[in-house]
Amino acid sequence: MDSNIMQAILNSVEKYKGIKEGKNASYIPYLAEVDPNLCALTVVTKEGEVFSAGDDEYRFAIESISKVCTLALAMEDLGPEKVRQKIGDSPTGLPFNSVIALELHKDKPLTPLVNAGAMATTSIIKANSKEERWKRILDFQKKMMSDKVELSDEVNKSEQTTNFHNRGIAWLLYSAQQMFSDPMEACEVYTRQCSTLVSSKDLATLAATLANKGKNPITKEQVIKESHISHILAEMTMEGLYEESGDFAYTVGLPAKSGVGGGLLAVVPGVLGIAAFSPPLNKYGNSVKGIKMIKHLAKELNYNIYNK
Ligand code: GLN
Repeated sequence: MDSNIMQAILNSVEKYKGIKEGKNASYIPYLAEVDPNLCALTVVTKEGEVFSAGDDEYRFAIESISKVCTLALAMEDLGPEKVRQKIGDSPTGLPFNSVIALELHKDKPLTPLVNAGAMATTSIIKANSKEERWKRILDFQKKMMSDKVELSDEVNKSEQTTNFHNRGIAWLLYSAQQMFSDPMEACEVYTRQCSTLVSSKDLATLAATLANKGKNPITKEQVIKESHISHILAEMTMEGLYEESGDFAYTVGLPAKSGVGGGLLAVVPGVLGIAAFSPPLNKYGNSVKGIKMIKHLAKELNYNIYNK
């Protein structure tokens, strides 16, 4: 099986690394400048084996994949039912930074995996100060991935000085009593959590931690309660790729999460985690090559969970 995984990774990277579709995110200045030709695909198994090809040491901005870590931490703090009551458990059917979604759904963000719900989730993390909230979120990212995960001052500055749209969403949430800390503080901490640098190996470890019932297979630490995993994976299936989530469930059949930095991860529950990296995005803000590579790998190795 191991040589099959490595061969499938190599086949997938070889087949798609040269395609030219998609564009880097440009609304965050830093992301527009990342080399669009970078490309990586990595698998971490629940036993902690790593299979990888391409630019898998390159560190890029985690962006919205951080929403999964903060959601998992919120569940540790409050339990899944409270998080579900406060934020919601359904897809919005609208873009990740939609303001309309808030109006349509009576000011409930609906899901922790879009910007509105993610900022509200950041605001419910237990802490007595902004810095304590931030430290807890960063530590949790490290636990789900590795100690190498750190804030990039450059990415953070690029985002904090241009995140006007998210600040607007944060105030709308506040006016609808959907923010549980100061709204600008929540927006700032959320923006920091998006600005950490990770490699495809880190993201595959995150995916493998979810695949391994909440135990990081590299560090062997139980990071998330086992009973929370199915809820996190359900959210990822419904909204992990925004309006493309249904298509991904239909054609690939794995819980997944994307970030506008070009990262994409998918979870094969009980088996392994997959992560891809390639900066050019499609119109939904998901990595074009990331989707193609993971789709190819999952098909070749028969990982669709609905085919079991
Ligand atoms: N930091 C980005 C934002 O809030 C993350 C978006 C994403 O990755 N989809 O807009």
